[in-house]
Amino acid sequence: MITVPELPEITVIAGQMNKEIKGKRIADIEVKQPKNLNMSVQEFVKTAKRKIVKSVSSKGKWLFIKLEPTYYMLINLGMNANLLYFTPNQKLPEKYQFKLTFADKTGFTIQFQWFGYIHLLQEKDLNKHKLTAHLGISPIDEEFTLEHFKKLLPSKKAGIKSFLIDQKNVAGIGNVYVQDILFKAKLHPNRKISTLSEKEINVLYDAIQSILNRSIQLGGLAYEKDFYGQKGKLTINEFLVGYKTGKPCPTCKTPIEKIKTGSTSSYICSKCQALK
Ligand SMILES: [Zn+2]
Repeated sequence: MITVPELPEITVIAGQMNKEIKGKRIADIEVKQPKNLNMSVQEFVKTAKRKIVKSVSSKGKWLFIKLEPTYYMLINLGMNANLLYFTPNQKLPEKYQFKLTFADKTGFTIQFQWFGYIHLLQEKDLNKHKLTAHLGISPIDEEFTLEHFKKLLPSKKAGIKSFLIDQKNVAGIGNVYVQDILFKAKLHPNRKISTLSEKEINVLYDAIQSILNRSIQLGGLAYEKDFYGQKGKLTINEFLVGYKTGKPCPTCKTPIEKIKTGSTSSYICSKCQALK
């Protein structure tokens, strides 16, 4: 299964990174794939070296490593990438494109499979960073209240699925988690936002929170590795309808269908998620 890490996986990694690398000083950086950077390798290494990790957080599918003084290192892992912690006595992964070592000889490697970004920028330029400046609020942030969610909705003519996976609206939901979120909310992916009732919006808001938080508790998808190389515990078996074509709907036993919705596939119970 080819997956892109979504909010739960990135949240798990950010928490683990924050625990392991906060307060550490960058000693050395090795770059084997310069295209991941937003500047020359030489400039990147020179700028990042000797800076200290202040904290690690996440927004949507991005990791934000705050460096002291006044810089951020932003990482997007793309598809099926591994970002792995190492300690001095540990064997490094066979393949990696990026290696960052701290003064205490611990560090992390990144192995990209497809695309991916490691951008370095000054704190004052964060709001000019094209790929992250327009990200919506992450659904697990305190700011993502029901009121905030309701305010986002009315002006939108789009179908609910394309709205939810657009990172400008809500940061962090992709084609994996959106399946069960919509099922839990009993909404067809193509349902027009303008037709949603107040009650349906409330139920959808709760579904977003519960599906994502449950995944974070399980350590994310079983197809993605965390900072320690451990896989999450969320397998396809744990999904309600996602990737379960032909399996019975957990509510009414109708076989789950895979349908085309725009450029993405959707897994739905045609009875529980009838298009109104
Ligand atoms: Zn059903």
